[in-house]
Amino acid sequence: MRVVLATANPDKAAEMAAILGAVDGVELLERPKDLADVAESGTTLVENAELKATAVSGATGSAAVADDTGLFVEALDGAPGIYAARYAGEHATYVQNVAKLLHALEHVRSPRRATFRTAVVLVEPSGRRLVATGELHGAIARTPSGTAGFGYDPVFIPDGAGGRTLAELDADEKHALSHRGRALRALARQLVVAPTRDDAD
Ligand code: IMP
Repeated sequence: MRVVLATANPDKAAEMAAILGAVDGVELLERPKDLADVAESGTTLVENAELKATAVSGATGSAAVADDTGLFVEALDGAPGIYAARYAGEHATYVQNVAKLLHALEHVRSPRRATFRTAVVLVEPSGRRLVATGELHGAIARTPSGTAGFGYDPVFIPDGAGGRTLAELDADEKHALSHRGRALRALARQLVVAPTRDDAD
């Protein structure tokens, strides 16, 4: 089965390719570079992932898979939530978003509990639609540590990783426990991959 990665964020696309690339029978295709960005106008992660997957499936005529991720911080009543990419402004950088988060939590004592949530939606030209979600619980560090990963990884300390931030884990360690890894593996379990002609008896 050929599936287009419907994310314009190269960091997320690389992680999705690493996780889904391991699934037998799935051939991943890059998002065409000339496709316009899809506005994330939904009010839930599932809605936003579906908007992206539907647009890219429609434009390419192939199945497409999209991810939408949010960071929900308890002491901030769930902010930045689904607006994690634009927390410090419409075109904010990862560094600006992290700086705003650390500033907002300046006077909040540990444990500064937070959860990453990912929704993934796969849309096929037939209209079949698969949805899966994944979560990662942890805490927000006081200062950034580590250089791997992207986004809020340098300040997110996942439960069960010995106090290291996600940016201090290698890619395989992150994917084994991450919100995105969990969501994509749950999606893969739903995919019934039909044998190709070559595989058929
Ligand atoms: P979106 O899914 O493109 O809306 O991404 C939301 C934002 O959350 C991204 O711009 C990143 O800043 C952040 N983000 C998404 N996934 C991760 C992750 O795995 N680690 C750290 N930050 C992430």
